Amino acid sequence: MYSHSVPTGLQIQNEIPLAPLTTFGIGGPARYFAVADTETQVAEAVAWAEQRSLRLFILGGGSNLLVRDAGFDGLVLRIGVPGVESCGDGCFEVGAGEIWDQFVERVVGQEMAGVECLAGIPGSVGGTPVQNVGAYGQEVAETIEWVRVFDRRSHAWVRLEKGACRFRYRQSLFNSDEPERYIVTRVGFRLRPGGRPNLRYADLQRRLGGREDLSLASVAAVVREIRREKGMLLVEGDADCRSAGSFFKNPVVSLDRLEAIAAAAGVQPGTVPGWPAGVGLIKVPAAWLLERAGFVKGFGDGPAGISTRHTLALTNRGGATCADIERLQGQIVDGVKERFGMTLEREPVLLG
Ligand SMILES: Cc1cc2nc3c(=O)[nH]c(=O)nc-3n(C[C@H](O)[C@H](O)[C@H](O)COP(=O)(O)OP(=O)(O)OC[C@H]3O[C@@H](n4cnc5c(N)ncnc54)[C@H](O)[C@@H]3O)c2cc1C
Repeated sequence: MYSHSVPTGLQIQNEIPLAPLTTFGIGGPARYFAVADTETQVAEAVAWAEQRSLRLFILGGGSNLLVRDAGFDGLVLRIGVPGVESCGDGCFEVGAGEIWDQFVERVVGQEMAGVECLAGIPGSVGGTPVQNVGAYGQEVAETIEWVRVFDRRSHAWVRLEKGACRFRYRQSLFNSDEPERYIVTRVGFRLRPGGRPNLRYADLQRRLGGREDLSLASVAAVVREIRREKGMLLVEGDADCRSAGSFFKNPVVSLDRLEAIAAAAGVQPGTVPGWPAGVGLIKVPAAWLLERAGFVKGFGDGPAGISTRHTLALTNRGGATCADIERLQGQIVDGVKERFGMTLEREPVLLG
């Protein structure tokens, strides 16, 4: 192993294993690897890769990532930009390298509402706008005001206001419209000082026994507890959380397809679960489709399998390779397609 040092102090290392930098714990090495703790280092790393015509991949907490077994033949740049600054009136400017759940804990402790249901989501602050993370009735887009980015096309630093980020369900400018063009270094949030917790989500309401007088901290604690039970909280030694969270997106279908879905599932018309997703559209839980197609919790007898506590999480039970996960993914996608005629989409990013 050797390392290059560039003027800003950025250390570029060679052949760094990526598996330990992901929650899946899967994947080969990065040919080159560096951590950027400042914006100057981000720009420097981009220039270094461009001068060598190398591909560049931006890494956060590695919690929405599946790395191929051969690794990545370019530069992996981990964003470590730190800092949480309060600008008053519920505004916060946060470095992309901060750990998301630590930020949530901090602001919830300061009675700032808006992210309490997103407690326990792994990864970095910079990763949250990328797929517009969401859980328990909240999405990060509801509280993001702006995102500061390095534009790899124009080589300029830009502040993108919320509207320009084009947030949708698990989508944004950053992962769909122009993937890989922008490197997020800071995110501006506007929270609600003294605001009430969001209790829109039916499962959460049930769990809280219909109580509405709860503090933000107790709602965040319940969310973490539900996550822990489902293996959706990172807990050392828990094999069910060696995953990338939900592996499939919930498909959005037109209302007139619901009858055919019910027939294929062998249930009464009108009993297919779902959430409204725009005019004439409904989001159907992918977990429900998987279960009806025979892919239940604990499915799979190899090193890759479905979590024993969450149908949507594919897990590395120990020693799984990316090929094992992709095989399981293919089996599930084919099974759901055969049963329901719809193709499920993978949520995590595939690198390599
Ligand atoms: C146990 C578990 C539970 C989870 N639960 C949820 C959940 O409830 N809801 C949910 O939405 N997600 C969930 N996830 C998925 C994941 O935690 C989120 O998507 C998270 O925001 C990913 O952030 P990250 O920093 O780990 O990104 P990474 O996995 O490192 O990267 C993911 C993508 O974002 C890009 N990216 C990361 N940082 C930057 C940056 N600074 N600038 C530009 N691009 C960047 C990467 O290039 C890559 O394309 C879960 C994952 C796990 C393992």
